[in-house]
Amino acid sequence: MNSSKKEVRKIKSCRICGSKELIDVINLGNQPTPNGFLKKKDLSKKEKKYPLAVSFCTNCSLMQLKYLVDPKIMFKNYLYIPSSSKTRLEHFRNLAETVRKLVKLDQNSLVIDIGSNDGSLLLCFKNLGTKILGIDPAENLVKVANLNGVETVKGYFNLNLSKKVRQKYKRAKAILATNVIAHIQNLHEVILGAEALMEDDAIFVMQFPYLLDLIEKNLFDTIYHEHLSYFSLKSLMYLAKDSKLEIFNIEKNDLDGGSIRVYWKKKINKKQKLNEKTIKSILDTEEKYGLYNKKTYSNFAKRVEKLKTDTLVRLKGLKRKKKNIVGYGAAAKANVLINYFGINNRTIDYMVDSTPYKQGLFTPGSHIPIYSEDRIYETKPDYVLIFAWNFSKEIIEKNKRYQKEGGKFILVEPNFQLI
Ligand SMILES: [Zn+2]
Repeated sequence: MNSSKKEVRKIKSCRICGSKELIDVINLGNQPTPNGFLKKKDLSKKEKKYPLAVSFCTNCSLMQLKYLVDPKIMFKNYLYIPSSSKTRLEHFRNLAETVRKLVKLDQNSLVIDIGSNDGSLLLCFKNLGTKILGIDPAENLVKVANLNGVETVKGYFNLNLSKKVRQKYKRAKAILATNVIAHIQNLHEVILGAEALMEDDAIFVMQFPYLLDLIEKNLFDTIYHEHLSYFSLKSLMYLAKDSKLEIFNIEKNDLDGGSIRVYWKKKINKKQKLNEKTIKSILDTEEKYGLYNKKTYSNFAKRVEKLKTDTLVRLKGLKRKKKNIVGYGAAAKANVLINYFGINNRTIDYMVDSTPYKQGLFTPGSHIPIYSEDRIYETKPDYVLIFAWNFSKEIIEKNKRYQKEGGKFILVEPNFQLI
């Protein structure tokens, strides 16, 4: 079943700069929303599918979804909980420590997290002794966070909400937005909202997967309906252009395949040093890599198409030899890859995932059952395909026994490989 017109809208202009000069990058076909996991009783029902394709703005170099799905559909049952992986929690602690040093947080400082989810990041700040406040639109997550002792306001972050928060609480010394900016349609409102909520010497820290890493490492499966934008630094410089905020520093890290952390401050705030050298060097690297060049994107699409062909040939080869293959990590990106490649439950026997609420459900589109990780040791499959490539090291480390007993891991990106 395909979506009705009302539920999907084709973009006409760039979300950041308004340019109509958008070129097609890649079309990943019609897909169910990647977090739309199914219960057994729903398997016989027809799933709704929505077009998944990205365009590139030749003016500001923002890569963005070509078709937007009504957020009500995507976030109706939003249950994403940030991975409890050591890597991510460690990262959250480091982020809290970095922010504490930068703005000299004390017990009177308020730290606000946009898209605060279950409150994991804010708990790191609570441990540092600051005041904290979460903002998140998902009712179930707001409940979880409040139970965790993280006061959380339910709502989508925009100028209106930020004014309400400012009235009820106070201005923040630090505002965070990790892995959430890509979900937001009106980015100019985010900047306005942050500015309205910031103390004059406050900072606003965004973090998200970086476009250059996505292109370079063929991470096409991070493209999905929830991620409206894929940012280069250049596109963010456009976002900053007419605002009262400015970017004063950038840091890269290897979380989620390669992310950047962007530090904003009010232009009037002279306490933070403007790191022009780093900013310029990243912009230079983007240009040198060809991130502003159409050809880079058509080459990316070709590589992804080849990756699909190569992977299917290899998987078919293994199936001909009667090998069992299971998947590790029933994340949204797994479903994008599976549905784009056209893999089904005849190729992948089952998936395992550490998130308890996913266990017992089925993957959208491909209907592969999801179990806990223990099942790998019960059924001893020949191959485990790691879909959660961002935690591949951690997964392999955790499952040395599986390898010792003769099992092999498969990684698909950036190229098909056996480990
Ligand atoms: Zn643009």
